Amino acid sequence: MLTKTQKNDTKSIFCSYCEHTGIVRNPHFEEIGEEPLVPCPRCVLTKCQCGGQPPYYIEKDGTISECYCREIRMKINRIKTIYLRSGIDRKYQWRFFNSFEANSKLASNAKNIAYDIVSKFPDVRKGLFLWGNPGTGKTLLSSIILTELIIRHAIEGRFIKISRTFFNKLRATFAEGSATYGTAQEIEYELENADVLVVDDFGVQRDSPWEQETLYNLVDARYEAEKFTIFTSNVDPHRAFADIAGGRVLSRIKEMCTILELSGPDYREKL
Ligand SMILES: [Zn+2]
Ligand SMILES: [Zn+2]
Repeated sequence: MLTKTQKNDTKSIFCSYCEHTGIVRNPHFEEIGEEPLVPCPRCVLTKCQCGGQPPYYIEKDGTISECYCREIRMKINRIKTIYLRSGIDRKYQWRFFNSFEANSKLASNAKNIAYDIVSKFPDVRKGLFLWGNPGTGKTLLSSIILTELIIRHAIEGRFIKISRTFFNKLRATFAEGSATYGTAQEIEYELENADVLVVDDFGVQRDSPWEQETLYNLVDARYEAEKFTIFTSNVDPHRAFADIAGGRVLSRIKEMCTILELSGPDYREKL
């Protein structure tokens, strides 16, 4: 993570157009078949002499040196690698705050808090627990936060949707002969240690005690490691988790997260 001094150094190198990051977002990248993130055309590309050819070196008077753009292009590549393995659903990829239309007081409050988290990260104490009826933008808002944090900080972020598929995949790691046999610990380690984790559709899994236990262990692990976590859920945690594990799950969620309700009309039609 960047220290204060490093942040200030970065500020002096890059311009205000790219918010002193050297990177700008390309909102129409899909339509024109370009990259979602590009080096700043004002303060980086103007000094680039390699034409964007990897590995971004230039030759001058017989000596080879790094092009001015190299550090930024390498950072963009790193961000893209992290982003593509983050697990964010295609439908929600590369979306930013302007994609989230707050159509209720609750939604606009949640958006403000989310924006605040993104601006202050890593100096934030709590994650988020967003709950409400389906289709109110919980998944979209958590994907936006994750996207922003990965782009701004190039940190490891993971998005998991708690579903049949998720548990089937995890279960397969215990089956001898399956391609993923023996990788359960690896997967668990990744989820427990990601700098940012979104757990989408966290709920009361009544189907099997193992599933329930797996989720609660993940909450415990994130809590103990003091890792930034965002949950989305269709249920009010105050009610749904009050009696589970003697109230331990609820008390951990409360300590780890700001709990926000996000209810309203169905949002997904607009996507
Ligand atoms: Zn710039
Ligand atoms: Zn260059």
